[in-house]
Amino acid sequence: MQGLELLVDFHRQGLRQGPGDDTITQKALAFLDLDTKQKLSIADIGCGTGAQTMCLAGLANANITAIDLFPEFLQELETRAKEQKPNGVVQTVQASMEDLPFPQEQFDVMWSEGAIYIMGFEKGIKAWREYLKPKGYLAVTEISWLTSSRPKELNEYWQSQYPEISAISEKVQILERHGYSPIATFQLPESCWLDKYYLPMQKRMDSFLQKHRYSPEARELVENEMEEIQLYNTYKQYYGYVFYIAQKIFTVR
Ligand code: SAH
Repeated sequence: MQGLELLVDFHRQGLRQGPGDDTITQKALAFLDLDTKQKLSIADIGCGTGAQTMCLAGLANANITAIDLFPEFLQELETRAKEQKPNGVVQTVQASMEDLPFPQEQFDVMWSEGAIYIMGFEKGIKAWREYLKPKGYLAVTEISWLTSSRPKELNEYWQSQYPEISAISEKVQILERHGYSPIATFQLPESCWLDKYYLPMQKRMDSFLQKHRYSPEARELVENEMEEIQLYNTYKQYYGYVFYIAQKIFTVR
């Protein structure tokens, strides 16, 4: 196994593939004024193995369409949904977030945790808006600067990895520019990174390396993850994930 296949094999064992926590998904959900007596259509984009999907599926009358590029992750989510039997309905769709196979104005909510960076925040919120019903909600987490200045080394790292990283206020302006009314932003606490994401990941590293007989590719993957963890531990006061919650502005046609 190499590259992407290896990455998927490593991450499919995890309950989540990015920083987050059920309590944080619930907190974000509480900002949405949803009529839970009606049927609700929710898209969960880049769902991974579905930590947040299962949380959203706790809503009665919710119909969750969970989208990911990798069928391995969707299989894990399907198993989880079968075991946990949530109130809502979970349907998986293998598709790219850049080319969603849905009609316009399909969803009441478009949700995405730890994934919009893959197509880029601005491109993502622009493209996904058309799938939202008028006054529908967007709720996404996105890597953001938490301070107005930062060490040069960190700045250079993120400029090379994801130049779209910016201050919360800038992301809010991007939402406003593209037809959304911002409702709330809040930072994900450290525990979402350390306890819920990095620590479980570190616990899986030995068995992953054994399974792949310490191949150079498997070792490289683990080393890269360790570097990311170290970077976070060194600089966590400067950057983090932020939840952005906004409502599609209703336009009269
Ligand atoms: N929301 C999950 C997973 C976040 S990781 C969580 O927070 O735990 C990002 C996810 O996006 C991965 O599951 C990855 O497979 C998926 N992904 C990567 N490229 C994609 C694309 N082009 N379209 C849809 N999903 C994609």
